[in-house]
Amino acid sequence: MEIRKIQVAPIGANCYIVSEAGAAFIIDPGGDAEKIIKAAENFDVRYILLTHTHFDHIGGLNDVKKAFPEAKTAVSTFEHDWLYSPQLNFSEEFGFTFVFKGKADIKLEDGMTLDFAGTKIKVLHTPGHTPGSTCFYIEKSDICENHLLFSGDTLFRSSIGRTDFPGGDGRKIIESIKNKLLSLPDETVVYPGHDENTSIALEKKFNPFLKMYRA
Ligand SMILES: [Zn+2]
Repeated sequence: MEIRKIQVAPIGANCYIVSEAGAAFIIDPGGDAEKIIKAAENFDVRYILLTHTHFDHIGGLNDVKKAFPEAKTAVSTFEHDWLYSPQLNFSEEFGFTFVFKGKADIKLEDGMTLDFAGTKIKVLHTPGHTPGSTCFYIEKSDICENHLLFSGDTLFRSSIGRTDFPGGDGRKIIESIKNKLLSLPDETVVYPGHDENTSIALEKKFNPFLKMYRA
C-alpha cells in the first residue's frame, strides 16, 4: 500500500492518497483540489473519507468529487449536516462559505469497516476536536507493511486537537485518544491531519497532553 501526503491550502492540512493495485482512497481533500486530482488521476478512486468537516479538511471536496464521481464520500453521521453549513464547518469565519454540492454516500459510525483492495478500513469514532471526529485504522497485512492510523485533528505528533471551537470537548478528546487510539498496537504509524507522522509508541512516551496515560 502506498501513502502520499499532500499539504493543502489554506492552512496546510494533510490530505492523503492511499493506493493499492490501481485503486485508491483520498482522506481530507482540504484544498488545492487540482494538486489532489493530479496525484490521484491514474487511480480508480473508491472513497473520499473525511476525518471531520472543518473547512480546512473539506475545502477541495466539491472539485475532487467532480473529478472522481464514482468515489463514495464518507462522513460521520454526527457531522453530515456540517457539510452544508458554512457556520458549522467554519468556512464562513474564514470568508469561504463552503457548502458541499454532492451527497454523502456513507455515514460513518464507530466500528464500521469499509472494504478496500482486499483489506478493511476500520472506522473509529473519536469525538472531542469535533463531535464527529473520526479516525481510520488499517491493520498490517500482506499488502500493508505497518498498522496505519489516519488520526485527523484528534492526535498529532506531541500534541492533540484543539477543543475550543464550537462542538469541541476537552474531556472527550482525551477519552477518545486513551480508549480508542492508545489501545492500538505500539508500532502503529500515525498519519495526522497536520504536521508530521508519528507512532502510538512515541505518543504514549512523549505527548505532553497524554502524560497521565503513560504505560
Ligand atoms: Zn479541525
